[in-house]
Amino acid sequence: MTSRPGRGSGTWYDERLHTHFTKKGYAQRFEVVRTLVAKQTPFQELVIFQTRHFGRVLALDGIIQTTEADEFVYHEMMTHLPMFAHGRVRDLLIIGAGDGGILREALRHKSVRRAVMVEIDGEVIAECARHMPALNGGAFKNQRAQVIVGDGIDYVRKARDASFDAILVDSTDPIGPGEVLFTDDFYRNCRRILRKGGLIVTQNGVPFFQPEEVVTTKRRLGRIFRHMTFYYLVVPTYIGGMMTLAFATDAPGLDRVPRAVLERRFRAARLKTRYYTPGIHVGAFELPPFIADLAGKGSRR
Ligand code: SAM
Repeated sequence: MTSRPGRGSGTWYDERLHTHFTKKGYAQRFEVVRTLVAKQTPFQELVIFQTRHFGRVLALDGIIQTTEADEFVYHEMMTHLPMFAHGRVRDLLIIGAGDGGILREALRHKSVRRAVMVEIDGEVIAECARHMPALNGGAFKNQRAQVIVGDGIDYVRKARDASFDAILVDSTDPIGPGEVLFTDDFYRNCRRILRKGGLIVTQNGVPFFQPEEVVTTKRRLGRIFRHMTFYYLVVPTYIGGMMTLAFATDAPGLDRVPRAVLERRFRAARLKTRYYTPGIHVGAFELPPFIADLAGKGSRR
C-alpha cells in the first residue's frame, strides 16, 4: 500500500502481478477507502480492502483475486459454461475458489447433488465469508456443499476413480501454493477421477501478459486429454484484456454443443445471469489468431 497526497484517502493499492511477477512494467492501482484485513497466512499475504468503484477487493500476494463489482463475469463463465456444455453435472469438484463465488454459482444448478470445494488456505474462506459474504451467498452452509481445507493435489491423488462429472480449478497463478495445480501429476489425477463424458476447466491467465501459460497448458493438458482448447472472457480487474480458461475432456464435441441445445438447457435451468448466455458461450470458443497461435505452439510436441 502506498500513501500519496491528493483527494480521498490518499492510500493506494498497487497490484504486483505485472511488475514483480511477469515483469511487464505495467500495473493497476486502487484507491483504498478502508482496509478490512491485511495479514500473512501460512500460505500467502491476504488483503481485503474497500474501494470506491469495485466494492470490496481480495488480493493475495499482491495479485487481485476478485472484486465485488466484476466477480460475476469470471464466476459465471467458469461455472455455467462447462456445466451447460456437460448437461447434467451431479458430482462437482472445485479446487481453490476460497472466496466462494464458484460454489455459489455451481449450486444454482439443481442437477448438482454434491459440490466438493478444496481450498488450501482456510483463512481465505474465513476472511471472505466475514468481509465479502455476498460472494459465497450462503453456499458454504448449503447441504450439497462439502468444504475441505487442504491442498488440491493431495485431494485428487487420493480421490476414487471416476467420482466426478466436472472439475473447476479456480486457483491463483502458477506461483507459490498454486504452482502444483499446473502440473502433469495434477492433471493426470484429475483425468483419473473424472467419469466418462467428464470435463475440466482451469484458470489460465491473460494471454497478452502471460502467453507462456497458454503454450504450456496446451502442451500439458493436450498430452493428457483427447480434446483440449480454451475459451475467453473479459474481467475488468484482470488487466490486459481477454482472459483464457482451459477446457479439456475425452468426450468429443463438448466445446461445440449446438446453440439450440444450450438455449434449451439454459431455459430449463431458469438462471438469471449478468454475463453468461448461450450466445456468449458459443462465441467464447472463437479465439482470436494471437491466442489461437499460442495454442498452436503448445500443440507442437
Ligand atoms: N479467480 C482468481 C483468479 O483467477 O486469479 C482466483 C481466486 S481464488 C481466491 C484462488 C484460490 O486458490 C486462493 O484462495 C488460494 O488459496 C487457492 N489455492 C492456491 N493453491 C492451492 C492449492 N494447491 N490447493 C487448493 N487451493 C489452492
